[in-house]
This record gives sequence, C-alpha cells and structure tokens, in this order.
Amino acid sequence: MRYDDSPPSPESDASVSPDRRWFTRRSGLAVGAAVLAPTLLAGWVLVQLTTGAGADDARPPRIVMPAAVPSPTPTSSPSSAAPQAKGPLAGRTVVIDPGHNTGNFKHTSEIDKKVDIGTNRKECDTTGTTTNAGYMEAEFTLDVSRRLRTVLEAKGLKVVLTHEADRAWGPCIDERARIGNEAAADAVVSVHADGVSSGNRGYHIILPAKVKGGAADTAKIVGPSRDLGERIGSNFARTTGSAPANYLGSGTGLVVRDDLGGLNLSTRPKVFIECGNMRDAKDAALLTSPEWRQKAAQGIADGIVGFLGG
Ligand code: ZN
Repeated sequence: MRYDDSPPSPESDASVSPDRRWFTRRSGLAVGAAVLAPTLLAGWVLVQLTTGAGADDARPPRIVMPAAVPSPTPTSSPSSAAPQAKGPLAGRTVVIDPGHNTGNFKHTSEIDKKVDIGTNRKECDTTGTTTNAGYMEAEFTLDVSRRLRTVLEAKGLKVVLTHEADRAWGPCIDERARIGNEAAADAVVSVHADGVSSGNRGYHIILPAKVKGGAADTAKIVGPSRDLGERIGSNFARTTGSAPANYLGSGTGLVVRDDLGGLNLSTRPKVFIECGNMRDAKDAALLTSPEWRQKAAQGIADGIVGFLGG
C-alpha cells in the first residue's frame, strides 16, 4: 500500500520534485553562513518559512547545525565488553540504520545520484528533515540509534550501525540494505522522524511490501518484518506514551511501502520507524528531549528483543 496523498517521507523526500531538490541545494549554500552566523541563518530560515517558500512540500530548507562529534570508532562496537547473551538472544545480530547523515546537505550531488533499488532507481540518500528550530533529523536518528545500541548490547546482542558520524555523507540506501544483509542480521531497524505539516502527530512503522524486481525480492521478509514492526510499535507506544500517527495508517501506526530501497533490497527482517513529526511543535518537544529519546530507544529495543524471543 502506498499513501500517495501523504507527504513524502524517508528516502522519497529529496526525489519527488525539482522544488525539493532546489531546497536541498539552497540549504547547501547556507553552510558557510550557518557556521559563521547561526543567528543570521535562523532569521533566514524564518523568512523562508513565513514567505511560504517550500510550504508545498512541508520540508523547509535544511538547517545547518553542528554535526555530531566525529568518531573514528568502527560502526560495530567491540563485543568483548558486552555480556554474553543466553537463550534466544545468543549469537543474534541487530543492525541499526540511523536515517540520513548530518553531512548530506553538503554533498547534494553525491546523494542525488541514482542507485538501483531493484524495482526502480532512486536517489542515493536524502537530507532528512529538521524541527522548526533546526534540530536535524540526522542528529535525532543517530542519537536514538546509539541509545538503542547501548540497550541491546546490555542484553548481549551484537549490534552494527550502518554509519556513525564516520563518513561525510550517506551511506546510499542500497548500501544501508547491504550492511544488514551482509551482517546476516536477525533484525534491522531504520530510525527516522517525519517532516510533515503541523498538527500531524505520532509515530508509525513502515513495513516492506511484497516486491520483486532486479535485486529486490521481499517475499521472505514480509511476514517476519510485520511481526518485528508490530512489536516495535506497541513497545514504543508503551515506553513513550506516544500515539500511532494521526495522518496515515488508519490509526494502526503501521504503513506498508513498496518504494523504499532500504526495505526492497533487504533480505533480513527490517522496518523503518518514524518516531514523530519534527514539524509539529508538540512532537518536536518530545523528539528534542534526551529523556524522551531514551524512552524511544527502550521501546524499540523491547520490540526487537521480543521479536527475537528474548
Ligand atoms: Zn528520514
């Protein structure tokens, strides 16, 4: 099922219209200004918002924020310090995919390059959205992913992140899928937050549709991915107190999509989670709270552990 009438999300966001690409590039031009004069930039963004530029796509100009502290550490943490998992969690691997990359806006030509997603060709990656105050989705996704890793490693699971502020842009969506496949992950979760108009609130889980074409064949993962997604959704709702999205999914918090390369190319059970709407002030207040992000990570982790039988 596709929701053609809904605003674009995850990987489709920079691919739909020339306008959107214009914004991505326009924001890239603001990089220098942002570094030198964040206050000035904030004013510029306000102007952009109040003049209605970009209102059609609900994804205003990307705002430059200090990137997460670069880390030379590998994306896979050493497991020697982690407790040994027993029972159904023993020897299991979880791949966490922090959506987007804080550096993507500086590399629009690279991330705009099309990659093969089996059923189609799509942009390598997108910039993601921001809150009105400029907190980047890419910062959010990496923070939640790191918290999630900590919780899962405490359970003795092996955890691999697809990236961790260790590269200038990307990975491309096909590489994100490949990392999960090559790790033979028992579960893969791609962490995101949505960027749609104010008043749209809540979380939703994106499940892979059954697709076949080129390197894409999701027949074997559709069932287990739904199980994974339902468990993550219910646990996320419990730990965060958030409600399922009020703007899609008919109140189930579940949406099936056939247009996301990260799902189409996965051979492992995989879902996306859109944790909330960064463009809604009430949701943004949650998404920007470290305490809330910890609850979010805990809920996602509980769903994964339940899926793995732990
Ligand atoms: Zn996203």
